[in-house]
Amino acid sequence: MSDKFFFKCDCGKKIRVELYEAGTDKECPTCHTKMLVPNSVTLQELSGDKYPLLSPIDKVLKTLEKSDPPFDGYCHMCEEREAEYEIPIQFKYMKERIAIKEGGVGVSITGSLTVGGGKYEEHWETLRFPLLLCEQCHNNFLRTKSWGRSKQIIKKLLFIILLMGVCFLAYLKFDFFAAYSTLFCVVAVGLLGSMLLGSKKGDLFIIPWLNHIRWLSESIASQDEYKVVASASQRIDKKSMK
Ligand SMILES: [Zn+2]
Ligand SMILES: [Zn+2]
Repeated sequence: MSDKFFFKCDCGKKIRVELYEAGTDKECPTCHTKMLVPNSVTLQELSGDKYPLLSPIDKVLKTLEKSDPPFDGYCHMCEEREAEYEIPIQFKYMKERIAIKEGGVGVSITGSLTVGGGKYEEHWETLRFPLLLCEQCHNNFLRTKSWGRSKQIIKKLLFIILLMGVCFLAYLKFDFFAAYSTLFCVVAVGLLGSMLLGSKKGDLFIIPWLNHIRWLSESIASQDEYKVVASASQRIDKKSMK
């Protein structure tokens, strides 16, 4: 994800600029005042990566703790308006997997051979953070959420119907087709399995939304085994925050 640069207009509006626009004039989209874009060093500091040595997940934790961007209360999607809603997210990831017993061939007390698989201990961590959205982006979010869920069900139904249709055709009409349909069924079962396995990763519809949060796409991409759970969105109580 490319870095994003911002500075604030006197009217309070956050103006998004590219780094090459540093030192030039830019008109504020809200109050139409011409503002001088800060120099590139200041711009980088303003939108800056204060913790270059931390891993993406630790950067998320640090910025969360300090209410620094991207957790400074602005909408994660448009990054222009203040967030009105928050969606609590749980991102569980496997931190490490340690072999606690070597697998291999051993001889038990009775003299029989035991072929054992290695035993592993898994350490999972949970990262909890809010997805922050303004009113408009939250409306879009609710739409994708319900569509995403029904799309999953439709996909599975279509798949089963297709599978039944092919098998039906195969056994009813073409004998030569039976061999191919067996192969098809094997592939299909594999696909269905991977689909079910995929849903084990949780609420996957949320991933494209999380990718808008700085460092989160990197955090997710760096994990092989994870699960994302999105809770119901809540209106942010502005008074309790200040
Ligand atoms: Zn302005
Ligand atoms: Zn927004």
